[in-house]
Amino acid sequence: MTTAEIIAAGAELLTPFRADTNSLYLTSGLNELGIEVVRKTIVGDERERLARAMVRGLQENRLVLVTGGLGPTEDDVTRPAAALALGISLARDPEQEAIIRAWFAGRQTPMPERNLRQAEILTGATALPNPLGTAPGQYWEGEGRVLVLLPGPPRELQPMWREHVLPRLRKRASAVGWLHRTLRIGELGESRVDEAAAPIYTQYPAITTTILTAQPGEIELHLRAPDVPGRAAQVGELADRLASELAGHLVSAQGESLESVVVSALAGRGQTLAVAESCTGGMTGERLTRVPGASRVFNGGMIAYTNAVKQEMLGVEKEILERDGAVSEACVRAMARGVRRLNQSDWGLAITGVAGPGGGSPEKPVGTVWIGCAGPDEALEIRLRRFHGERERVRQAAVFSALWLLRQVLKETV
Ligand code: AMP
Ligand code: MG
Repeated sequence: MTTAEIIAAGAELLTPFRADTNSLYLTSGLNELGIEVVRKTIVGDERERLARAMVRGLQENRLVLVTGGLGPTEDDVTRPAAALALGISLARDPEQEAIIRAWFAGRQTPMPERNLRQAEILTGATALPNPLGTAPGQYWEGEGRVLVLLPGPPRELQPMWREHVLPRLRKRASAVGWLHRTLRIGELGESRVDEAAAPIYTQYPAITTTILTAQPGEIELHLRAPDVPGRAAQVGELADRLASELAGHLVSAQGESLESVVVSALAGRGQTLAVAESCTGGMTGERLTRVPGASRVFNGGMIAYTNAVKQEMLGVEKEILERDGAVSEACVRAMARGVRRLNQSDWGLAITGVAGPGGGSPEKPVGTVWIGCAGPDEALEIRLRRFHGERERVRQAAVFSALWLLRQVLKETV
């Protein structure tokens, strides 16, 4: 099986402000071709360093993909770096020059002279059309090695990959693709998941199993293996065994998100939901409405942030707010019941907590969250959670926990 390296060029990718996402997209495409990514490198806009990375990549792999640095400015050094790495020259390609001139003419803007740098193509390389920008990609092949230069902006890179790189690589690559399966697990730590899962997945050495926290509260188990004869059945068997071992904590054995599992469960019962959110400020509603067709089951809700709104809109009694406070069992009960009634829904889900960093007290430290679920016939399920971490983490964990509570209740009341 062929291996590949991806090199992301761009000084911004070495700052705290931008992450390299192109390589995630490219890796997914490469894996489908049966090509394994064995290293990713990020290099700033430095010609020599970038050239050294390319040389090393091409020594160790048949395929190197470089993204970014194809712009017209001084800091875009991918073209000259590739020329240096391959020991070949760049020459202005008249056809590319015409395309770039036409691009500007079509937009009735004068072309800065420096944009013609983008028409410089490596000797022997094929220019890859970029209908969404001025930088063509480049595909160079020699001595059994392939070097591909792709533009940085994802909206330019992705169509170029699909239309011009993928078909060329498909001709060269082995026909073996990758099998992929994702299981989602709720409210169980990574090490607990591994404790339960490792005795099973270690029996399948041909399948790569990885455990990662997808978001606060949620763990993902990824199963990956080359798609050779018989392997799909093994992956299916491993997934089934893991799913039954972790059944009590399983969100989905098919990679479905918690929100979409909840929406399907409600739709299956023909029931509706409303949410009342304090510290999560609408995030639960946002997650639910990510699911296409959520309107079948999600009526709406209320961001009840202040005591006044909790009281006036949701009917939380003044005495509760004075006696127990907004972060309390009594309050979350009243919120869940209130929003259910207000929105004429079968279910009402409520969240109130201390997201931090301020507002904690010894009895109610930062991370204290009450979650309430009011159901048909006025049944109530309440949970108290103590999350750790900073504000955003607490809020995300609270949303997950609320949807997870509803999921559990729906399971138990079939
Ligand atoms: P460049 O082609 O280097 O001029 O990059 C143009 C823009 O593309 C950058 O400002 C980024 O916003 C984006 N970009 C570049 N490299 C990447 C990458 N590896 N992942 C995601 N976005 C990128
Ligand atoms: Mg750049």
